[in-house]
Amino acid sequence: MDQLILSKDLHWEKVAICEKVFLLKKANENNAHGLFANKNFKKGDKMFQFKAKNIVSKPTYLTVQIDDNKHFSLDPDFLQYMNHSCDPNVFLNSKDLTLTALKSINKGDELSFFYPSSEWDMEQPFICNCGALQCHRYIAGAHAIKSEVLEKYTLNEYIKRKLSESR
Ligand SMILES: [Zn+2]
Repeated sequence: MDQLILSKDLHWEKVAICEKVFLLKKANENNAHGLFANKNFKKGDKMFQFKAKNIVSKPTYLTVQIDDNKHFSLDPDFLQYMNHSCDPNVFLNSKDLTLTALKSINKGDELSFFYPSSEWDMEQPFICNCGALQCHRYIAGAHAIKSEVLEKYTLNEYIKRKLSESR
């Protein structure tokens, strides 16, 4: 990964950059953060390899769930700024620790993933305003979404196992 670089422009504060993705911190009243593509990707591309660190038994709003009592933090840290969407363009694969493009992504597009693809019962549910037609509005983890809806998404092994156990 390239060295982290700090820079600023009129609307966005670029707080981290690497070869393939970069993080922009939007300087608006919402103080919104996002992660954006720094190049074009095709559907199915492995976009980025990350690491898991600090496996803990209690989740926070920044951890990724891999088992009932196992949650890890993302390394590099800036991946935590990737937002949720109910129509995601990225799959965060907690098994091979990659970000995979779920559709073609253009340079400059915001990257988003579907939080319930790894989280069964989220510590901090929220109201989603992603704007997708299929937006679920209340995001509280996979347990709160009908299984036939959930199965249309790319899901991590842990969520697939929970789904089969809940039948
Ligand atoms: Zn949504």
